[in-house]
Amino acid sequence: MTSASATTLERDLLETPLVGALLRRRGWQLAARGALLALAIVMVLQGLYGSQLAPKNLSTLLTWVHYRGFLVLALLLVGNVFCTACPIVLVRDLGRKLVRPFLSWPRALRSKWIAIALFVGVLYAYELLDLWGDPWATAWLVLGYFGAALLVDVVFRGASFCKFLCPVGQFNFVSSTVSPVEVAVKDRAVCDSCSGNECLRGAPATPTTPARRGCELGIFLPKKVGNLDCTFCLDCVHACPEENVALTTRTPGLELADPRSRSGVGPLQSRTDLAFLAAVFTFGALLNAFGMVSPVYALQQSMADFLGVRAEWPILGILFVVALIVEPVVLLGLAAWWTRRVLARREGVLRIAVRYAYALVPLGFGVWLSHYCFHFLTGFLTFVPVLQSLALDVSGVALLGTPDWTFGGMAEETVYPIELGLLGLGFAVSLAVTWRLAAADDRARPARPFAPWAVLQSLLLVAAVWLLSQPMEMRGTFLGG
Ligand code: SF4
Ligand code: SF4
Repeated sequence: MTSASATTLERDLLETPLVGALLRRRGWQLAARGALLALAIVMVLQGLYGSQLAPKNLSTLLTWVHYRGFLVLALLLVGNVFCTACPIVLVRDLGRKLVRPFLSWPRALRSKWIAIALFVGVLYAYELLDLWGDPWATAWLVLGYFGAALLVDVVFRGASFCKFLCPVGQFNFVSSTVSPVEVAVKDRAVCDSCSGNECLRGAPATPTTPARRGCELGIFLPKKVGNLDCTFCLDCVHACPEENVALTTRTPGLELADPRSRSGVGPLQSRTDLAFLAAVFTFGALLNAFGMVSPVYALQQSMADFLGVRAEWPILGILFVVALIVEPVVLLGLAAWWTRRVLARREGVLRIAVRYAYALVPLGFGVWLSHYCFHFLTGFLTFVPVLQSLALDVSGVALLGTPDWTFGGMAEETVYPIELGLLGLGFAVSLAVTWRLAAADDRARPARPFAPWAVLQSLLLVAAVWLLSQPMEMRGTFLGG
């Protein structure tokens, strides 16, 4: 296996004049979380009491068009900044002022299996309930999310909901492995002589400083590798008395081939649950895009006729089981079996599949990115008439002007090459990660273990290009007629 470090301390963004100065200040997270909480309250209220026409409602429009677009672009350009500003953390902190958590998250549940089930559950509910077109249901989903997180985190210590349950958090953790920024220590020698380990444990208040929180995700900074399970909260930055924590730039995706054990996560090659999450993340990206093109309706109709069922839920259930369990298990199993043959090792197929599954992540992220960017870029101005309409409804006067429902975004023909470019970028990074893994397996002839995974990734790329070339539903907007 490669022994190369995934992190190269290239540049500390906390040292940059404006952004760095802002990020080093305490309280900016509070302001960001407060702003997003206010926005969430407006969305929920409009979802429950406003127009139930999805393109005219902030609940559906911001959740399914703008939020997802901003999310993936932020992950591509910076990192997991949406977890940083997550308003649920603010609600949780307020709840913990009333009820102090009294239990540790059960040891037997310290894995990603429940989170994977919830992630699949959200994708399934999105399709089954047509959430993009239902402001009321979307508002209840947001409320349910806040309620569940609050309930879990007033009972269990640390960031149990974020680490073990939150489906959006898992999406962000996996995606941020291809982000260009990482929280890391500046100088490990400084940590060697540190006795307080405040980055993990936090520190009590003193007469001159307030109490500082340690890493609630259980990450000890000197042993941190990569972005998995890091919410970018920067609590460790504020907690470290030596100012030894940096926000550094790095090579995106390299951590996926890093075999070192990582604090709070362990070695990737021993985490079957994380590898399965990486596979579900990638195949889920294709399935989610497949749900928006017309061939899916023809397929569902054929399945319904063949099985003689009329209800949508069992048909959708079969599609999900095939796409998110059968397909990845068979395809990864075949690629791993082929790899074992060329390596002529006694190593188990599962072990090989787990090791190489992470290389799918950049390609999977490329599919999510191009799909969400399509909706975001073609409809990014659609929020303007909704705000104009909201102002008119609330005040009775056209404070922001008369709603103009012709506001849209970029033309589909302009966005298509951008989608292909983003997809190609993800594919290239997946190949690069695979090559690194293959070189660690067979230094003399890396092309041999590389080939099975390159074939698998090429097949997935072809499927993704075909999906993107199909006319896509303009869910949640008036665009497309
Ligand atoms: S990051 Fe700071 S608090 Fe953590 S071990 Fe290093 S010096 Fe100590
Ligand atoms: S405390 Fe530091 S390591 Fe832990 S989640 Fe926050 S930013 Fe990441």
